[in-house]
Amino acid sequence: MSNMSFRSTKVTFHRGSLRERSNVTYIEPHDGGFILATESTPFHPRDYRWPDQPEDKGYLENSLGRRYDLSDVVFMGRSPDGAVYVAEAIPVRKGEPGWHFFVGHVVREDRPDFEVGDGVILQVDRSIRWRLSRAHSAAHVMSYALNESFSRRWRREVSTLDGMGNPNFDAIAAEMSSIDLLSCSDRYRLGKTMRKKGFSTDGLSDDITAHEREINALVGEWMRRDAPVTIRAEEDGLVSERYWRTTLNGVEVEMPCGGTHVSRLSEIGGIRVGLEMPDDETLIITTNVR
Ligand SMILES: [Zn+2]
Repeated sequence: MSNMSFRSTKVTFHRGSLRERSNVTYIEPHDGGFILATESTPFHPRDYRWPDQPEDKGYLENSLGRRYDLSDVVFMGRSPDGAVYVAEAIPVRKGEPGWHFFVGHVVREDRPDFEVGDGVILQVDRSIRWRLSRAHSAAHVMSYALNESFSRRWRREVSTLDGMGNPNFDAIAAEMSSIDLLSCSDRYRLGKTMRKKGFSTDGLSDDITAHEREINALVGEWMRRDAPVTIRAEEDGLVSERYWRTTLNGVEVEMPCGGTHVSRLSEIGGIRVGLEMPDDETLIITTNVR
């Protein structure tokens, strides 16, 4: 069975690709339609464990020019014994040894007129990708300003530092991140675990406006110096490690990231950051771009 021997998907979204021609390696009925994998794809799938950046929108086109809109783009995992799991049903973490991971393109139609081995064109919606990428890059810039503004709140030495040398509050306290078109919402925990790690929440709700002002000032200052934004990747496998890289305030910074991004800071546009504490244990940061 050719379906059993297909290899992990080669991805190109991290290099900014919106269009690829590739061969179908897997196709099966799924959710009232079908799901298929290809050797390579420009589509960014929604992550099944940390779904911060939503899936790309777009379509597939067969050799006769017929188009199939994608209703979803997800992860697929194949176990060492050949069982295939889709999205949240995948029972192991990304990169589990012995497993292969694929981008699953979901189409809500029942009779695909192509099969394993056929060539298709995969086309990502440019305008949606562009707005998601700007929001995702903006959220990363915000996180360094947040770490800097919160650095004076640490009462104990922290070993997890960001690329600018500040305690990495963003990485330590992150609970949820949700990227949308031109905006991103990040939720951080402030409760007992954080206090145990040495983070002081004393007077934070009174200082929240001051932190917000400082974060916006830092972001504004850093964004005035344009710099390239790149993704460092050793390999192009779906679950290969990838790192977001840029220069902020003259300092080269880098963080792990599986999403898509602009290629220069100036492409993000203006960034506006808002902080709020719905309760004593929670901080919500909204990052908007325009
Ligand atoms: Zn990211």
